[in-house]
Amino acid sequence: MTAGHPAACDVAVIGAGMAGLCAADVLRDAGLSVVVVDKARGVGGRMATRRLGAAVIDHGAQFFTVRGEPFGAVVTAAREHGAVIPWCTGFARAAAVDQPAAPADDGHLRHRGATGMTDLPKWLAERLGRAQAVIRTNARVTAIAATAEGVRLPLDGGDEIVARGCVVTPPVPQTLDLFAAGGLMGPASGRIDGDAHRLLASVAYDPCFALMLVLDQPSRVPAPGGVQCAAGPIAWLADNQQKGISPVPALTVHASGEFSRARFDDPPDDVMQALRTAAAPWIGAATVVEQSLQRWKFALPITVLEVPFVAATTSPPIVCCGDAFAGPKVEGAASSGMAAGRWIAGALGGA
Ligand SMILES: Cc1cc2nc3c(=O)[nH]c(=O)nc-3n(C[C@H](O)[C@H](O)[C@H](O)COP(=O)(O)OP(=O)(O)OC[C@H]3O[C@@H](n4cnc5c(N)ncnc54)[C@H](O)[C@@H]3O)c2cc1C
Repeated sequence: MTAGHPAACDVAVIGAGMAGLCAADVLRDAGLSVVVVDKARGVGGRMATRRLGAAVIDHGAQFFTVRGEPFGAVVTAAREHGAVIPWCTGFARAAAVDQPAAPADDGHLRHRGATGMTDLPKWLAERLGRAQAVIRTNARVTAIAATAEGVRLPLDGGDEIVARGCVVTPPVPQTLDLFAAGGLMGPASGRIDGDAHRLLASVAYDPCFALMLVLDQPSRVPAPGGVQCAAGPIAWLADNQQKGISPVPALTVHASGEFSRARFDDPPDDVMQALRTAAAPWIGAATVVEQSLQRWKFALPITVLEVPFVAATTSPPIVCCGDAFAGPKVEGAASSGMAAGRWIAGALGGA
């Protein structure tokens, strides 16, 4: 694709997280041509796994549950192909990070990626590739504009995509920025329906610090490898070795929403020190041999809209979806993406 010669397709999907990939899956099934673009180096969005030294660490979503179809069908297929495996039916719970953790088993299955949480989105992306969908990573959309030809998406670097419809999955505040940059908002344009704009503008997220620690000996996190803390600076700790994805002991420490909001702009070294001190009971006698801090700005929606997607415009059809719609978390994002895909397929007359 060269600047001045935009790539054309039926539907452009912005974001290769669970919502975008699941929307693309539905659109390909409907016989539409699909291009998925993501600004990141790989697919998965907040389902994120990385290496740190010899360790493998999930630093975004830690596990997922399945409560309904059609996400259940996706997970069943992914399990059959070895991308997803069951982890457990509950984690230890502590009243606070420095309190003892009691085992908690509610009988409800938690799943994980076989080698890390990115396995499910990677598997979906490979399946989409085999179905002739195009997936472009390292491709940041800089604006969403609506013209007589359809939706125009300029990319960083000068390329452009033109599509008959568009599925938009970035966190909602970032989506509104893309609409503004494309001239879809504001009194002069009036392209976005007022009710849709009000709904989208009401969505807010908590940030989250994810501290990753590689240890020289096993941690004190109890089986099956996770502790949920009800209060204090830490909300969750996981031992990635016990989880079964890291060859060496390595912790993921997620700060609480309150801590992450209050300390979001603090120097990273200060934040790491504060979280390491709070996590000391679970680090135990181990020495930290490597550490890294990830700052998720839009980690978890704290307002969730009670609709599976929001149609921002109908001509051309542009639909917003993701985990802020009809259910946060991985399953909510996937279900929202599928619902948005079905809506666009209907609007464009897909099979
Ligand atoms: C720290 C943390 C812990 C979590 N723990 C859990 C958990 O244990 N269980 C659970 O079920 N859920 C958990 N979640 C939530 C879960 O990860 C999300 O609900 C889900 O992954 C969201 O998927 P999505 O597709 O809606 O959004 P995302 O995964 O955020 O995907 C959006 C994509 O859009 C891309 N994008 C954004 N802007 C642009 C642009 N301008 N151009 C191109 N691409 C763009 C991004 O790179 C991203 O890949 C957690 C999240 C975090 C951050």
